[in-house]
Amino acid sequence: MKYIVITGGVISGIGKGITAASIGASLQLHGLEIDVLKIDPYLNVDAGTMNPNQHGEVFVTDDGYEADLDLGHYERFLNRNMTRFSNITAGQVYSSVIQKERSGEYLGATVQMIPHVSNEIKARLSKLKGDVVLIEIGGTVGDIESEIFLESVREFSMDVGRENFLFVHVTYIPYLKVTNEFKTKPTQNSLQLLRRVGILPDIIVLRSEKKLPDSTIQKVALFGGVKPDSVFVLEDVSNIYSIPQKIHDEKMDMAIMNKLSINPTKNFKWIYPEPLNHVKIAMVGKYLATDDAYKSVLESVFICGYEKPEIIDSEDLEGLTQSEIKDRLREYSGIIIPGGFGKRGVEGMINAIRYARENDIPLLGLCLGMQLMTVEYARNVVGLNGANSTEFDPQTPYPVVDMMENQKMQMKMGGTMRLGAAEIKISRWSKLYDIYSSEIVRERHRHRYEINTYDFRNMFKIEESDPPDRLEVSAMSEFVEAIELANKKFYVGVQFHPEYTSKINTPHPIFLNFLETCKNER
Ligand code: GLN
Repeated sequence: MKYIVITGGVISGIGKGITAASIGASLQLHGLEIDVLKIDPYLNVDAGTMNPNQHGEVFVTDDGYEADLDLGHYERFLNRNMTRFSNITAGQVYSSVIQKERSGEYLGATVQMIPHVSNEIKARLSKLKGDVVLIEIGGTVGDIESEIFLESVREFSMDVGRENFLFVHVTYIPYLKVTNEFKTKPTQNSLQLLRRVGILPDIIVLRSEKKLPDSTIQKVALFGGVKPDSVFVLEDVSNIYSIPQKIHDEKMDMAIMNKLSINPTKNFKWIYPEPLNHVKIAMVGKYLATDDAYKSVLESVFICGYEKPEIIDSEDLEGLTQSEIKDRLREYSGIIIPGGFGKRGVEGMINAIRYARENDIPLLGLCLGMQLMTVEYARNVVGLNGANSTEFDPQTPYPVVDMMENQKMQMKMGGTMRLGAAEIKISRWSKLYDIYSSEIVRERHRHRYEINTYDFRNMFKIEESDPPDRLEVSAMSEFVEAIELANKKFYVGVQFHPEYTSKINTPHPIFLNFLETCKNER
């Protein structure tokens, strides 16, 4: 078994996860079996309690783990599912060590970072399986939190043999406009930090805005202790899915396989999505601090071959009249209302939903989006003034969306939502059935609230024999899973998250159908 460890230098957010996923994809395309582990040095046990504005979206795996968004890149690039074992955090490691200490497993010993914490980490590393295991260490070299992980990986490389290990350092070369030069100093510093923890990189990947001159590459090679042909440049690209191709064209894949003494068993061939369709889609969201907050939704659209949606601040749509909303959203062929938590911005989303329903603009609601479609329908069609979700108005006279029964007893916030994949039954008479051509599907979840058909049964068409002029429930599990209106071009809300299962070459059919409708609408 071979291991590739990916560390980051200088700053985070330079695409280390995408680089790792692309390296993985390029090796997979050569016929190798790849496993991936993302290490997140933060103290949270998982990403579930983190604000998407700070950390980007929370990605949910099939087995119900709330993960860092990099697992989403791995799933999309590698075309396979990750699990809760694809991610470890410092929070998990420390809580496990402390539990062991309390139960007496280290009886007599002084419990220390080395060897107790490092052994805990190494035990997790040794469970990974594959021809090649990719280990991406989050953050940048030099962070206090990541030190113990670098040390553990270094020790582990000694245990399994350094020749089975490849260290790739992904770092950033800033461009200084005033003097028109590229600066290597921050990278020199990060290489030094890496050496201080005993890691010598085998390959250095330079991320930069544009192509780098040879002199820059030579300089980094010298400081990094590698030959210039082990330094690769990945400049910014408009389509991240082209990167595995670039890795192949630059022969980085060959360099990696040579250094690890592995032979390809297949000829590299990579087909990736390109945004050939120009359709303007609005996504009315509320986490605007970083595009990463809606990563999987944006990528799901792109993977279908469409340009990414524009993100509109739902708070800007609050307090506007319907004709003002119309002016604001007129240019878009379709609207997506994504998932989210908390009251802020939801009235703006409801305004956008009303506009879409009344003007028959294709609308896709995801989780929170579906819940708000139900609220809007209750208020403006059924006439239930003040209808709401109890998440936003606990005193509402019409709680058409309410907390799931088993959530009401929950005292804790971490990992307690309805999480992960569950089987869903699609109604045969629905649009959703046309989309899936299947009566049973599996989709992923992450929510605490549900549509309240118990108290408001008459608002919904659940059985085919129910009156047609109602909000249609087109998919069910134990809970309402989807709603739609049949007399619209596309008016579908889903309680689950199709964005988590879109993969390259297998775009999600709901996104595809929605986008095709939008395209035909132009
Ligand atoms: N806040 C809503 C709930 O908990 C929606 C969650 C979501 O959009 N992921 O049910």
